[in-house]
Amino acid sequence: MRTLKRLHAAVREDIGELITRRPLPGPGIGQLDPFLLLNHHGPQVYPPGNAGLPFGPHPHRGFETVTFILHGQLEHRDSGGHESVIGAGGVQWMTAGRGVVHSELAPREFLERGGELEILQLWVNLPARMKMTEPRYSGLQAADIPAVTHDGAIVRPVSGEWLGQVGPIRPLMDVQLATVHLARGATARFAVPRGRTVLLYVVGGELRIDAHHAPRFTLVELNDDGDEFVLQAHEDSTVLLGHAAPLDEPVVAYGPFVMNTREEIHQAIRDYQAGRLG
Ligand code: MN
Repeated sequence: MRTLKRLHAAVREDIGELITRRPLPGPGIGQLDPFLLLNHHGPQVYPPGNAGLPFGPHPHRGFETVTFILHGQLEHRDSGGHESVIGAGGVQWMTAGRGVVHSELAPREFLERGGELEILQLWVNLPARMKMTEPRYSGLQAADIPAVTHDGAIVRPVSGEWLGQVGPIRPLMDVQLATVHLARGATARFAVPRGRTVLLYVVGGELRIDAHHAPRFTLVELNDDGDEFVLQAHEDSTVLLGHAAPLDEPVVAYGPFVMNTREEIHQAIRDYQAGRLG
């Protein structure tokens, strides 16, 4: 059984009107290799006639962004010509690779009518050999993502195999991600082989793991000392769950660029300024 290493409460850092919590990185944790960053926007209710989200056109290079739309809608447009509006329960998986410029905004309908909004965005690193890969994008609606019931938990696999069900995204790297809903009182066991980093974030509710309580907005860091763990739900709970092999490479990050060296960061900035990111 994997034991608990540390609980990390997300740090609140709103962006204008957008409620934002950041469980990763945080004061006690730099990265969970290869998981670099997790932002939790909302939950909140936007009024009719709102100004929407603050994520107009901006670049990325060297990693992937995986965005889970829990409530509301998110419109994605990028320099590769991809455009989609994804609703609640859907996922956007973007490989920035050698470079992309994109916007992540509320669609017009949401600006006019308002509504609930809750979004998770995860940054997943790419290894040196794939940082300059061709950009790609997949937008999945809720209906594209299967659901498997397991010990009182509903697991929705996005990538990788979960309980015999394969998620619809076939990622470049072996990154396995799912959302999990546990009903109050449920106890669910998950297997993750040793050597892989576990990403476990309590989006809502409250869990018990390895005799510790993890309330909502907590990143649970586990030791690599077993090949399974058990989650018990004290309340109806929602969890972002993932695992991947660590890259064990140097990380040099500057804003929206994540590379291996400072020189590669300088090159990314020059390429962006010269319009070579899209
Ligand atoms: Mn972005």
